[in-house]
Amino acid sequence: MTSEEIKALTGRYIMNTYGRFPVAIDHGEGARLYSPEGREYIDFTSGIGVTCLGYGNDSWAQAIAAQAQKLGHVSNLFYTEPAARLAQILCERTGESCVFFANGGGEANEGMIKLARKYSFDKYGPGRATILTLNNSFHGRTITTLKATGQEVFHNYFFPFTEGFRYADANDLSSLEAQSGDDVCAVMVELVQGEGGVLPLERDYVRSVAKLCAEKDWLLLVDEVQTGVGRTGKLFAFQHYGILPDVASFAKGIAGGLPMSGILANEKCRTVLTPGTHATTFGANPVCAAAGLLVQETLSDAFLEEVASKGAYLREKIEAMALPCFGKTRGLGLMIGIAVQDGFSNKDLANRLIENGLLVLTAGPGMRLLPPLSITKAEMDRGLAIMEATLR
Ligand SMILES: *Cc1c(COP(=O)(O)O)cnc(C)c1O
Repeated sequence: MTSEEIKALTGRYIMNTYGRFPVAIDHGEGARLYSPEGREYIDFTSGIGVTCLGYGNDSWAQAIAAQAQKLGHVSNLFYTEPAARLAQILCERTGESCVFFANGGGEANEGMIKLARKYSFDKYGPGRATILTLNNSFHGRTITTLKATGQEVFHNYFFPFTEGFRYADANDLSSLEAQSGDDVCAVMVELVQGEGGVLPLERDYVRSVAKLCAEKDWLLLVDEVQTGVGRTGKLFAFQHYGILPDVASFAKGIAGGLPMSGILANEKCRTVLTPGTHATTFGANPVCAAAGLLVQETLSDAFLEEVASKGAYLREKIEAMALPCFGKTRGLGLMIGIAVQDGFSNKDLANRLIENGLLVLTAGPGMRLLPPLSITKAEMDRGLAIMEATLR
């Protein structure tokens, strides 16, 4: 089918819930994507932080094919090896204690919220169920995770929302303390706010929040759906901050492009969720887990160090361009935000870049870059050249 035919069919048969760019993608190789007509795009998006190993990765495809031939699904009523091994690796590499596997980021965060409320219920009884989250956060699209999201625009249409969330300003401990109360059971944060605009939390703030949580026996819940799995140059962003969250969620990059998510819990939270209290039919799918194992194998410590240096390289080059539309860059590793100057629209800039063959994302009022973690120097340079030629 041609791009135009695909767009027309989509418009007719798929519910119109996405603000799509006017581009159809047929296949990819490395950090390059191709339309059905063969038009090339440099990809600084990784399908919103998912395709961490890039496109056309043979080892990834082979790991999936081999597992699909052996066993595609059997449910959590039985034991399977790939998920068990993936959980072991995630715990050994982070110091967490155990894993629950789910399928998407919002669903993982629901599990994290359920765990926090049950931890508190088991220990203190009812009435201690409120979770403090941060303004400008993003935690998902389910009715509960919309309410957990600290942005008023998301609290619309779908009333009644789940009760039990209050919001504090990021990087402001007194704002969090002002929301304190006997009804609180947990604090939930993204260490780099992703959808909100790529805003990293400060190290001292995060460590103070961890200390406050420990004092009050609030669980520290870290939403690593976007920051996890190597995106920031460490396997998980919390490893930059010297903290061990009580629970951390992951999703986007975990299986390099197949739908998989989950939560990691520390020893204290190991036995909170029990048979009958939490489940999902597709969770721990062996094909997704096999892809997840291949991702873990690829994300060696040396590979993660390269992620950090590639991120530094991109930021340095973008700042050196001193484009009139851009201000400072920020972020961690290959999760990069670029401030957009007054008088310029980030959506408009993204559209112009895409027209010229560079796929980028927006976040909040700025630009956001999430290239495949495997992107090469040549691919970065090609993308930077398109950026400069388009926006100069
Ligand atoms: C993308 C994202 C989610 C939602 O994940 P889905 O897989 O779309 O449900 C939640 N939290 C953060 C931080 C995200 O970036």
